[in-house]
Amino acid sequence: MGRLRIVKGKIFEVVENDLHYYSEASITESASDVYSEQGGDGISHSGDPGTPPPSPTLSKCAVFFRPTKEWKGEFGFDWIRVGDSKMETDVPYNGIIGKYGAVYATDAGSKFTANPKKYNAILKDYSTFSVYKGTYYVPNMTLNVGEKAILDTIIHVGEKADKLHYAYNTDVFELIIMKQFTVKKGINHDEGSLIIKCKKAFSTPETIRVIATKNKLKEKVGEIKILPNNNNKNINIVIIPVENNGYIGHFIPNEQQVLTNALKQSYINPLIEAYKTPINVDSAWFNFWFKSGEKLDNSSIVSIHSHLDDAFYKIKGNKDKYSKYYRIYMLKGADIAINGEADHIDTPNSSVVVFDRPKRGRSVSTMAHELLHAMGLYHTFDNDSPYTFELYKTDNIMDYTHKKLKNRFSTNKFQWKKINPNLK
Ligand SMILES: [Zn+2]
Repeated sequence: MGRLRIVKGKIFEVVENDLHYYSEASITESASDVYSEQGGDGISHSGDPGTPPPSPTLSKCAVFFRPTKEWKGEFGFDWIRVGDSKMETDVPYNGIIGKYGAVYATDAGSKFTANPKKYNAILKDYSTFSVYKGTYYVPNMTLNVGEKAILDTIIHVGEKADKLHYAYNTDVFELIIMKQFTVKKGINHDEGSLIIKCKKAFSTPETIRVIATKNKLKEKVGEIKILPNNNNKNINIVIIPVENNGYIGHFIPNEQQVLTNALKQSYINPLIEAYKTPINVDSAWFNFWFKSGEKLDNSSIVSIHSHLDDAFYKIKGNKDKYSKYYRIYMLKGADIAINGEADHIDTPNSSVVVFDRPKRGRSVSTMAHELLHAMGLYHTFDNDSPYTFELYKTDNIMDYTHKKLKNRFSTNKFQWKKINPNLK
């Protein structure tokens, strides 16, 4: 038992055991008269303050939100993954964030080492609060006006609450509860149980919370943070079919949808123009390149990107109109080992190539993947990425999970902020 007493301007604190003060910033103590401290075993003024213990929670339940297994990135949802969703690829982050050695992730002999410090660093990208059984990491969501998100709810129940309800801004959102929480003791996964519709634009982060009532006391037991959607970034994209050696590059089904979804997650609106007439690039250089199947040279001297831009800009009016666009060239030809290529990641550029290979085709997500490189995103398994994830362990569009014949379509908040500086 402890007690805190204020008597005529004096504060007395008396506890029977240890007393700890925790502050998220500094603690300042000052006195206009004498400042005295007394300790029976001396006074220590240094050392690691340690982590404050979670504050006690009253309601023995917690509600977590996950996308459904049908989610294909139609809205942004980024959370600390623990592998509890029904999705195709969902590996706990603890253990897959770290660094590769000197050998690149995709090369033979590469070695990944998980790093708990890097895992702890990514935890800081999420708001937290104390909840039944530990710390709650609040997912970050992006949702455009007029769109909806369908989510699963996972409720951990130690003791049934008297009541559970949602708290949110009803001016901005409409919630449709498809299924009430299952409140059996243990873990209950209610699939597709919540639909969130965004009714209007908003300029500061919004939250959707689950409030539990127990013995007339109310407590937050679940939350989603939705980032402001009132300042989306518009970009222009032109997609250009290329003719070479009698082959013409073309779209593959759903490719533009995957591209649009990937950008929407970062609140980027793409205005996509499909260029009608294929540009012809029959030349000794291209023919050599396609026949030899040489890996592309990224240097400015023989860059395939600059060759394509040259050919495209030769057509009257194109340079004026399209040099500010992202230009995606679709080629078909030799059965080379790569799906596509962006130019540089670190320097601003706007030209991307995708390949439709006679035998292997290309992945539906290649176009989006290459464009995101051009906009500044590294592979998630690259040591230059702000966080390095183990190869094939995520459904992030910048992973190579498609090579394992699984879908990739998601992005994380650290990527949203990189490609859209408007995003708060
Ligand atoms: Zn790539």
